Amino acid sequence: MAAKPAYGRVLLKVSGEALMGDKAYGLDHDTVERIAADIRAVRDLGVEVCLVIGGGNIFRGLSAAAQGMERASADYMGMLATVMNALAMQNALERIGAQTRVLSAIPMTTVCEPYIRRRAIRHMEKGRIVIFAAGTGNPFFTTDTAAALRAVEMGCDALLKGTQVDGVYSADPKKDPEAVRYDRLSYMDVLSRDLKVMDASAISLARENGLPIIVFNIHAQGAFARVLTGEGTCTTIND
Ligand code: UDP
Repeated sequence: MAAKPAYGRVLLKVSGEALMGDKAYGLDHDTVERIAADIRAVRDLGVEVCLVIGGGNIFRGLSAAAQGMERASADYMGMLATVMNALAMQNALERIGAQTRVLSAIPMTTVCEPYIRRRAIRHMEKGRIVIFAAGTGNPFFTTDTAAALRAVEMGCDALLKGTQVDGVYSADPKKDPEAVRYDRLSYMDVLSRDLKVMDASAISLARENGLPIIVFNIHAQGAFARVLTGEGTCTTIND
């Protein structure tokens, strides 16, 4: 019998870049479909799943601000980019039979539902995969912080951060063959050593609320389900 998942409700943070595949910009549909299949597999294990999707594959506020654009406007553009990614993921999930809802922190009711916390919880209780779009709805934040915020609001048991490698390493494993992967780190380790896992406000919010963060490789097929059943490689960040 397959191992039982250790968590009942989780939030998965997928960066916009994870959806690019080998491309330099935008969406790679095969990659979106593969990640959607992994998400569906976790839902099929009986886990309630919600997602926060980034927008860095399309637009980053900070990069535009560095070229002279006003930061707040640039960040609003970044948030709109996350809505595009959320719709792409919704489409891929529904094509394989998953029930989904996109809830945006910036209301745009002709496109998706506005974010209402109690409605989001109800969707998840009904087995729908909830996709949170437009980050926190505020400029000067990131989708990492949005992921920690929504995970806490939804009462998630863990925040899963899908990255390019299978956990947090002492150095970049793609450049340094001596780099070692940590099985476990404390929130304080991440903050005090400035380990590039998620931004400091996301880590602080997780720490204040005792929300474990699990870092794993989003590109390894099936890894999302494996880390939840304790069979996958990952780094767990907790107290
Ligand atoms: N953003 C924002 N507020 C939020 C979340 C995102 O202003 O709460 C903007 C910000 O400009 C950011 C862009 O949206 O650069 C895309 O999000 P992010 O960089 O976090 O995406 P990722 O790196 O995960 O793809």
